[in-house]
Amino acid sequence: TYFEQFDIKKEIKKAISDMGFEEPSPVQEKAIPVILEGKDVIGQAQTGTGKTAAFGIPIVHRVTEEPFVQAIILTPTRELAIQVSGEIQKLSRHLNIRTLPVYGGQSISQQVRALKQGVQIVIGTPGRVLDHLRRKTLRLQEVRMAVLDEADEMLDMGFVDDIEAILKEMNRERQTLLFSATMPPLIRRLSTKYMKTPVTVTI
Ligand code: AMP
Repeated sequence: TYFEQFDIKKEIKKAISDMGFEEPSPVQEKAIPVILEGKDVIGQAQTGTGKTAAFGIPIVHRVTEEPFVQAIILTPTRELAIQVSGEIQKLSRHLNIRTLPVYGGQSISQQVRALKQGVQIVIGTPGRVLDHLRRKTLRLQEVRMAVLDEADEMLDMGFVDDIEAILKEMNRERQTLLFSATMPPLIRRLSTKYMKTPVTVTI
């Protein structure tokens, strides 16, 4: 199986080939078609399985050039936010799409300036994203796709209230994706509360 089978923009296929990916990883093969259909997905996958591109490819495909935040990815750490942002930037390099990582410890005014430029995809840690929402420097009402990446890690770090506050800012029409290595009861509870009949993908 090759990336050719996916119904995605040719610019993304070119970027995937620039990145040296020859064929989809198992999580990509299973999750990408379901995400492209618009379904909510719970992906049980560890780091190193290619999960970032599994959600990154459909996000980059769906986002338009219109200058407002259309997708948000929440990550437990700044390191992961930077890494995910880098991968999405590579996937979108032939498209006119802006991606911005926002995390604590970095100058907030610099992030505010960057957000004002018109960003389509935000990758952030829950605390800093909530900070921007409270300052009204970030609007999530028009988000079409939301991802909770390494959800179990975020919950272990005590981010559950922040995550719920962030999800409540979004339109209910959005598509929600949740990736986690483990599925403790709190993750199940979050998915029941904030996802619409999710499809589970395990690898
Ligand atoms: P992740 O699990 O998203 O952290 O990805 C782990 C590593 O695998 C990253 O360096 C990706 O760039 C790389 N990768 C993701 N998908 C593929 C693929 N289909 N073929 C080759 N490498 C990949």
